Amino acid sequence: MNLYNLNPKYRILVTGGAGFIGSNLCESLLANGNTVVCLDNFATGKKSNVTPFLSNKKFTLIDGDIRNLSDCHKACEKVDYVLHQAALGSVPRSMNDPITSNDVNVTGFLNMLVAARDAKVKRFVYAASSSTYGDSKNMPKIEDVIGKPLSPYAITKYVNELYADVFSKTYGLETIGLRYFNVFGRRQDPAGAYAAVIPKFVMQLMNHESPHVNGDGSFSRDFTYIDNVIQMNIKSLVTNNTLAVNTVYNVAYGKRTSLNELLDLLKEYLTEFDLKIGSVKTTYGPIRKGDVPHSLASIEKAKELVGYNPEYNIREGLREAVQWYWNNLK
Ligand code: NAD
Repeated sequence: MNLYNLNPKYRILVTGGAGFIGSNLCESLLANGNTVVCLDNFATGKKSNVTPFLSNKKFTLIDGDIRNLSDCHKACEKVDYVLHQAALGSVPRSMNDPITSNDVNVTGFLNMLVAARDAKVKRFVYAASSSTYGDSKNMPKIEDVIGKPLSPYAITKYVNELYADVFSKTYGLETIGLRYFNVFGRRQDPAGAYAAVIPKFVMQLMNHESPHVNGDGSFSRDFTYIDNVIQMNIKSLVTNNTLAVNTVYNVAYGKRTSLNELLDLLKEYLTEFDLKIGSVKTTYGPIRKGDVPHSLASIEKAKELVGYNPEYNIREGLREAVQWYWNNLK
């Protein structure tokens, strides 16, 4: 059985393929028998994420930068589809250095659109972001109603959507934007100042260190397991529903979990490996600037037009993620 009916004959470019989401996409595509090109400059991605693929003849690694148009052209050669993941993530990173975030996320994105257009790829599917909802108070978030951006990162991701829309209208490039909501799972980096909350908490708990929560722990997110995200990417490539292209989708599970609930679940699964983790105390501090209190997606549009059907709820996803961190990083 092919991966969501994706034909193995296609050559697919994954930008940011050495990162968390990108390396998981590369892995699934290679397992399906596709030829995969990975373009990455290892800004936040890791060589170790792609090392297992290097012995596969169907895998090509290009150490290059999306800010360089000729790297983008080279990566797009003979490619059927693009899964564009390369970007500098993290809201706080963009607050500290908005210029680099803009260079990579906006200029780099535009370069990739131009290269994909010139190579006449069949479709350009790209990582958008839930941060585009900004200060909108609507819940759940539906694709058509967004607020004002709350960070430079959010601006860059919104600009991606505007550019993709214009490229589909003016050059006929088929695009689909995927607004990811707090993705988690194997290979997500726990290290560094800009680490996402789940891998950071898992590592702290594994080391018997107190996880630190900004606020009282009541803030909530629609945490989304990586395998649901892979499904949506592949279904976006294969859909032949003409109404499904040149638009954006929420990619989430459709339920929200507070940070306190998240910590309880992590402790529940981690104590299966180490009982002492159950008694690690959480510390609480002030709310972080730019953080929205709650985030919850409607996934109806993705279900209806692309046939998205997330298979992992937060519990199932966390159980697998925790197991992976314990086996690989303990
Ligand atoms: P990641 O940092 O693990 O992966 C990003 C990859 O892009 C890295 O391998 C990095 O080296 C590469 N990259 C960065 N700058 C580059 C450049 N100039 N040229 C070439 N490669 C470059 O992050 P991720 O979590 O896997 O995120 C993937 C995409 O999804 C990003 O576009 C991110 O903004 C978006 N996104 C992620 C989440 C999430 O929860 N993880 C949520 C919303 C959106």
